[in-house]
Amino acid sequence: AAKSLGGNQYHYFTQSMQEAVIQRMHMINDLHVALENNQFETVFQPIVDLKTGGICRAEALIRWHHPVRGVINPAAFVPLAEDTGLIQAFGDWVFLEAARQAAKCRRYIPDFQVSVNISPVQFRKGGIDTDVWFAHLKSLDLPPEAIVIEITEGLLLEIDESITDQLLALRDAGVEVALDDFGTGYSLLAYLKKLDIDYVKIDQMFVKNLSVSEEDRILCEAMTLMAHKLDIAVIAEGVETQAQLKMIASFDCDYAQGYYISGPVGGAEFEELLGEKYKIGLS
Ligand code: C2E
Ligand code: MG
Ligand code: MG
Ligand code: MG
Repeated sequence: AAKSLGGNQYHYFTQSMQEAVIQRMHMINDLHVALENNQFETVFQPIVDLKTGGICRAEALIRWHHPVRGVINPAAFVPLAEDTGLIQAFGDWVFLEAARQAAKCRRYIPDFQVSVNISPVQFRKGGIDTDVWFAHLKSLDLPPEAIVIEITEGLLLEIDESITDQLLALRDAGVEVALDDFGTGYSLLAYLKKLDIDYVKIDQMFVKNLSVSEEDRILCEAMTLMAHKLDIAVIAEGVETQAQLKMIASFDCDYAQGYYISGPVGGAEFEELLGEKYKIGLS
């Protein structure tokens, strides 16, 4: 009996592995179709200025409206897009969407910025076609300062001359740079200056337990202080409660993003927030 059970388990195991492979192939196929059929949507999450409580920028975040599986979040398909090289086409599309939204928002707030997440893979294998990006900006009559690109600490681990050149080309044109998920990885602090980083985004893992963790309070405050000394502005991510908002404001943090303010919303809804001159209460 034991032997037949083992046999079944083995059979079951290979079958589920096979299913995973097939599932992955379907997803890759679906991703190609999604790009062709415009199944992606860019949503925008407000970032508020902690001096005024007003919205001053947005982060562009991608959603996939799968015809069968419904809304799929980036964690479930960005890695697949990276593995298959689709991330380049996909990244160009998100960039254009972000730029379009920035142009719209600048009608309400002249110096409005939209930030775009850039995968490390986009910088490798041929790299980013910055000419295409600059052409997009030009066609929208949008200055490069309207865009902030968000890179992660993971990129710094394997940064080479080619990546540094691409980043500095964007930087020199006026595009600003934010270091996302700050503090979670290998914060190669030397790069904060070398790449002329404009913003660090303190990761939500530090913000989450601010009300109960003395250690996280110390870390948030220290990260903010260090960034400011280097003339880098600080955005706190994952602000979910009023207590967290007050606390990061007391640390002299510059900007806040999180569900307490608003989750990501569609482009039109985002414009409505700007039209209403939405402000978060700070006291
Ligand atoms: P991220 O860049 O750190 O984006 C912040 C994530 O936190 C978003 O998840 C956002 O919806 C979520 N978030 C915002 N406020 C709160 C909050 O108060 N509490 C909590 N728990 N979460 C909050 P999302 O949209 O699922 O994106 C996850 C990650 O996927 C992003 O992390 C980013 O690394 C990646 N990503 C998203 N869009 C793109 C894209 O267009 N291109 C690339 N390459 N990556 C993307
Ligand atoms: Mg981000
Ligand atoms: Mg982040
Ligand atoms: Mg700077």
